[in-house]
Amino acid sequence: MFNKRIKIKTLLDSDKINYDATVMGWVRTFRNNQFIALNDGSTNNNIQIVVALGTLDDVTLKRITTGACIKALGEVVPSLGKGQKVELKATSVEILGDSDAEKFPLQPKKHSLEFLREIAHMRFRTNTFGAIFRVRHSLAYAVHKFYNDRGFVYMHTPIITASDAEGAGEMFKVTTFPLDGTAPKQEDGSINFKEDFFGRSTNLTVSGQLEGELAAMAFSEIYTFGPTFRAENSNTTRHLAEFWMIEPEVAFNDLEDNMDLAEDFIKFIIRYAIDNNKEDLEFLGLRLEEEEKQKPLGERSEMGLMEKLNFVVNNDFERLTYTEAIDILKESNHNKKKKFQYLIEGWGVDLQSEHERYLVEKHFKKPVILTNYPKEIKAFYMRQNDDGKTVAAMDILAPGIGEIVGGSQREERMDKLLERMKEMNIPAEELDWYLDTRRFGACPHAGFGLGFERLVLFVTGMTNIRDVIPFPRYPKSASF
Ligand code: ATP
Ligand code: MN
Repeated sequence: MFNKRIKIKTLLDSDKINYDATVMGWVRTFRNNQFIALNDGSTNNNIQIVVALGTLDDVTLKRITTGACIKALGEVVPSLGKGQKVELKATSVEILGDSDAEKFPLQPKKHSLEFLREIAHMRFRTNTFGAIFRVRHSLAYAVHKFYNDRGFVYMHTPIITASDAEGAGEMFKVTTFPLDGTAPKQEDGSINFKEDFFGRSTNLTVSGQLEGELAAMAFSEIYTFGPTFRAENSNTTRHLAEFWMIEPEVAFNDLEDNMDLAEDFIKFIIRYAIDNNKEDLEFLGLRLEEEEKQKPLGERSEMGLMEKLNFVVNNDFERLTYTEAIDILKESNHNKKKKFQYLIEGWGVDLQSEHERYLVEKHFKKPVILTNYPKEIKAFYMRQNDDGKTVAAMDILAPGIGEIVGGSQREERMDKLLERMKEMNIPAEELDWYLDTRRFGACPHAGFGLGFERLVLFVTGMTNIRDVIPFPRYPKSASF
């Protein structure tokens, strides 16, 4: 077997010395023809490999360049240098893959995040992105652990859907028709999707919720965790065209149960990262501190990354109604001094990200759960409250991010649901399969969607969502 190596993290974490080991990885730096800093992605810490003079021939020495992949064999010994307890005294070094130092895009210096985004296919090999994607992995694992431990069933809802009724966002079309105008047409000139691959018009999903509700009406508790797509032309630091969403759906839960589940869930996964990714989070914390130093004093965040994460897991989220939030915003000095781009004049308006951020960052200084929004600004399936004006919705807003969760208790009463669909011009025939949940054994139930990348943003302290998904898709960009 070729791969008899020890992972660099395992080697560095152990106190064991004076044994032979093989390591493999990519060269970060090579100093004085003697010291190789090698990284294999298991940790940001490199192993120092010492090549004693005369061990290697000149040709091999020249091929040890930044970015090259090597296999090194030798003895693990205590290190005399600063920064590491042990190092590898090499007896042999084999080049597995050369890397032309002149052309290798990553130099041993600090690159901007913007530059690294242009070479996203190489950025995994930097400390920042190493840390981000190890944390992302942990968070994804913790999502499954949380729901599995509670007996939820992981449900794979479809990626290609025929329903475009939900209105969560603009959709991407899925078709095998040619785009040159020769697609089959109906008499009125519109495209005849009956002849298309699926025999109807189809799209990429914007949410697995509707299918999730069907499964919840059998398993009681399900969750989805998969990619969703929105063709929204929003060039923001919080929107992607392809992002991952976690959507639990729970029979017999009301709005309050739903909020409790969401809060427990968020705290659990953040705690999991604190417990399992200490080193990477501390690295990202320092990175953030450096970045904050560039900002004017008044705009710097009051807490460091670790402090912020610990604060979130140890404190209750603030819960209030939309109506109460509007009152706070309307009366705020910010509003009175016309500092909002969209001034809050009265009840009924949708909150903009500036308002959400004011509430969490300036007013409450902690995550906030807003409930009972006006029905006009929310989806048709949300349960109507007795006041006739609001629905049992809940959004969770996080400092620095804004909306991270959107959810609700669902309207389980068939007559109310149909009435709302009619008002919103949603064709009941198209969603007949969905309405079967209300025809046969309907029950109170609730669920929410958490945008995975928004959570990764929050935990890593990064500021642009394009930096927390490996290969971001956004308007005018689908490279790699
Ligand atoms: P926003 O107002 O921020 O666009 P939304 O109201 O469209 O969000 P929902 O439809 O409720 O969001 O989707 C559920 C969750 O999915 C959101 O709370 C957010 O965390 C995440 N989300 C929504 N749109 C995007 C996107 N384009 N990119 C990344 N995450 C998203
Ligand atoms: Mn949106």
